[in-house]
Amino acid sequence: MGHRVLMLGAGYAGLTAARRLAALLRRTDTEITLINDRPDFVERLRLHQVAAGQDLPSHDLADLLSGTSVRLRVARVSAVDAEARTVVADGTAFAYDTLVYALGSAAAPMPGAGDVWNAASPAAAMRLRDRLARAGAGERVLVAGGGLTGIELATEIAESRPDLPVTLATGGELGDWLAPAAQRHLRRRLHHLGIRTREGVRIERFTPDGAVTGDGTLLAADLPIAATGFRANPIAAAAGLDAAPSGQVAVDAAMRSLSHPDVYVIGDAAWANGPGGRPLRMSCSSGMPTAWIAAGDLAARLTDRRPSRLRVRYFHQAISLGRSDAVVQFVTADDRPKRAVLTGPAAVRYKEALCRTGVWAVAHDLPARPKPAKRPTTSGLPAR
Ligand SMILES: Cc1cc2nc3c(=O)[nH]c(=O)nc-3n(C[C@H](O)[C@H](O)[C@H](O)COP(=O)(O)OP(=O)(O)OC[C@H]3O[C@@H](n4cnc5c(N)ncnc54)[C@H](O)[C@@H]3O)c2cc1C
Repeated sequence: MGHRVLMLGAGYAGLTAARRLAALLRRTDTEITLINDRPDFVERLRLHQVAAGQDLPSHDLADLLSGTSVRLRVARVSAVDAEARTVVADGTAFAYDTLVYALGSAAAPMPGAGDVWNAASPAAAMRLRDRLARAGAGERVLVAGGGLTGIELATEIAESRPDLPVTLATGGELGDWLAPAAQRHLRRRLHHLGIRTREGVRIERFTPDGAVTGDGTLLAADLPIAATGFRANPIAAAAGLDAAPSGQVAVDAAMRSLSHPDVYVIGDAAWANGPGGRPLRMSCSSGMPTAWIAAGDLAARLTDRRPSRLRVRYFHQAISLGRSDAVVQFVTADDRPKRAVLTGPAAVRYKEALCRTGVWAVAHDLPARPKPAKRPTTSGLPAR
């Protein structure tokens, strides 16, 4: 029997890693199985657009994987047994020699947040879309959380539903991580869309009537939306893999779990030291490079080659502000803002190109066409 690589999750990270691994191991007898809970690839970067009522093209996973040796199984993973090296999905046990874990993240839990709306997953975005479609003129929308997702969601809703008063609440100063020109543009755009901002308010819990701040004030809303961060899928931590409080699995520079080196963890699920010694930001900017690193390292170990030393670095933060405006903040390798900023139509085109490139990249072998593998071996694999 060949070496069994089981990959969980066909999002940006998992799909990229699966295709890349298959390309690197073209001539070996490695079996690569990819399990995902749905048959299509979800452009999670665009879920705020889905929530605001826009229809997006669908991307069939079978098409995206055609011509590769990756076997796709559509099933929902419920558990990983990292000691027995098995995964249970839809009641069936799958054995593996190496696991690549890429189950992504969902909305961070917060008191009461289960009862309010969010757009962190496709199902949640569809529920919010239905609720917005039923919303009558004047219903108050509150987006709690002034990070990238909160800003994208608030502007998208305000642009598509000018009849709904939208408030964006944030713990700090709005856009305080941006360069001054980007922050000014953001404020102007929110003002133009009629979005009311509440800054310096710390949300402690949600209720069906709004969000309650640290000093007990209720920010009343007919439609409270949580954009208060992401939390990694809990399956890995439940399996006993060493994890951070965010649920992300602690990994080394090759994206291997520190506690279980036969498990690679990539994308939002990974807790890795990023540039500047800070943890990687949950984003495609870090998720896709982590997939290349893991696939490259695993392929090298299976073929007795030396892995190439890829590193994650950042280039930009591209924030849509509805369909007709955006702001692109260029950043240093360790994600600090540079003075360079793009706004308006040029930024809209830039952001759109990034989203399209994300889909293109999961369907192609990047960054370079790999050399065919020499011979299969498992000599570099951990004994456990
Ligand atoms: C509204 C919104 C806007 C965003 N905008 C940006 C942006 O502009 N730029 C940026 O870099 N990032 C952005 N992000 C974050 C980005 O989407 C994530 O960082 C990225 O999707 C992480 O990729 P991933 O492959 O780790 O996880 P995901 O893309 O979430 O993929 C996880 C995969 O696992 C599958 N899965 C989950 N649970 C199971 C299970 N139990 N069994 C089987 N399969 C399962 C899912 O269906 C999915 O296919 C945004 C996120 C949201 C919600």
